Amino acid sequence: ATTTRAAPQAKTVAIVGAGLVGGLAALYFAEAGWNVHVYEMRTDIRNEKFSRERSINLALSERGLSALRGARGVDLRALMELAVPMQGRMIHARDGTQVSQPYGVFGECINSVDRRMLNEVLLDAANALPNVQMYFQHELRSASLDAGQCVFFNRTTNESVTVHADLVVGADGAHSAIRRELMRPARMDYAQQYIDSVYLELTIPPAAKGSPQAIEPGSQFVLDPHHLHIWPRKTYMMIALPNPDGSFTCTVFAPSSMLDAIQTPAALFDLFERDFGDAVALIGRDRLEREFFNNPRGPLITVKCGPYHLGDKAVIIGDAAHAMVPFYGQGMNCGFEDVRVLFEHFQRHGVSATDARQLGAALAQYSAARHTDVAAMCDLALANYTEMRASVISTKYLACRWIERVLHLVAPRTIVPLYTLVSFTNVPYAECMSRGRALRKTSETILKVVSAVSVVGGLVGTAWVAKRAGVRGPMVRAWIAAMGLAPAHDAVRNGAIALLEGALAQVKQL
Ligand code: FAD
Repeated sequence: ATTTRAAPQAKTVAIVGAGLVGGLAALYFAEAGWNVHVYEMRTDIRNEKFSRERSINLALSERGLSALRGARGVDLRALMELAVPMQGRMIHARDGTQVSQPYGVFGECINSVDRRMLNEVLLDAANALPNVQMYFQHELRSASLDAGQCVFFNRTTNESVTVHADLVVGADGAHSAIRRELMRPARMDYAQQYIDSVYLELTIPPAAKGSPQAIEPGSQFVLDPHHLHIWPRKTYMMIALPNPDGSFTCTVFAPSSMLDAIQTPAALFDLFERDFGDAVALIGRDRLEREFFNNPRGPLITVKCGPYHLGDKAVIIGDAAHAMVPFYGQGMNCGFEDVRVLFEHFQRHGVSATDARQLGAALAQYSAARHTDVAAMCDLALANYTEMRASVISTKYLACRWIERVLHLVAPRTIVPLYTLVSFTNVPYAECMSRGRALRKTSETILKVVSAVSVVGGLVGTAWVAKRAGVRGPMVRAWIAAMGLAPAHDAVRNGAIALLEGALAQVKQL
């Protein structure tokens, strides 16, 4: 256990938002010796009976883990004991067939963790430090950030509370109030995009102990727990992540108009029996009906903005700076990485709790460097929706991924697939994107060449076999001639060559 106290002259930071990213930021600042004040508009999640969070579990991968490793107060080993590692995607066809697509060639895993448990671990660790104060039920209403001033509404006393801090950190989520206050003085560029799809969570309950539904004796899981399950249906999909208690949390992502059109249990069962038949059996019809018609439907938004800071007075991190759609499982990981990278910039500029002379320079560099990476990740996350709901069942996609895996095996350091770069390394996102795209082009070219060689080889081979076997007929004779295996009349030869060129053009369009 470590005890950190703020130095007598230590600077004060006000962190707005005690979600995942605010919780981790509080730990980093506290461990660096700052006076930390955390303001959260809701009640303390640790005292709540029911979770009101937007997703029950999350995929935690390398970037998030790296940032957590930097927070000494977090017992990562204990945390990971409560996580369920997932080594790949399990694709569910309509007929219930399941096919595994591993994430990495070396057994790399992403980890399904309980969102609430992770948030509680972070708040507990921050709370244990003497230089951290937490204020729940404090909603930021306005701020004069250039003066380091924030005005909160205390929901318990119905009073307004004005506070001053040397630095204000906005970790208040996708609809950030700090971002709103930052926009004008920081001359911030801002763009947001809602996608047409919304999400809805359903539950696959654990099997009773000893039940034949369980995938193996002693287990309560009814699906392989070491996969992220996907039911890709081209324009929509369902996914399921395992929980340590043997249950799975399913999330349906679909156009809102499609879900709105389902008004009766009969319509619901028609759709689900047709598209997610094996899951209906596991969810149970009663539960499906109850959850489908009662659970909230969440919007999916991308927010890009910049700069993220105002002089040496304020900075936004996490979803406040870059909300992204959840299809790469990177929102929280990226927010955790923000905290790690921010402190790297502090270190580079010699910023400490007692010497903040270079704080403005550190924030400016952080803001500029991080923006490129985060914008790349927002785009990758959007693109991955198509990949998860449609591409994962396309032959061309699977062939390219296979080629990339083989190349990665041959040169593990230099040739790295995009998913591996994003989820299992800390390589900056923009670099992941450019390297991933270059590799994708290479794999597509290899696929085209291999396909063309196979077609030509097949054509020549067929002609050779036909000739050897003495098969006759005008088409076969033309074929043999075109392949250069026998002389032929020019017109016949040209016709056959045109046919061959047509076939090659088809291959090129692959
Ligand atoms: P939030 O979690 O939104 O926390 C913001 C906090 O600020 C909240 O506690 C809020 O109450 C508080 N707040 C807001 N306004 C104020 C105010 N005015 N005053 C005071 N407090 C305020 N990410 C992953 O990495 N992996 C995944 O697998 C994954 N799956 C996801 C699945 C779904 C369906 C969704 C929607 C998201 C998923 N994400 C995932 C993204 C992840 O949830 C977010 O990126 C992450 O929660 C961002 O954390 P945050 O702390 O920045 O914001």
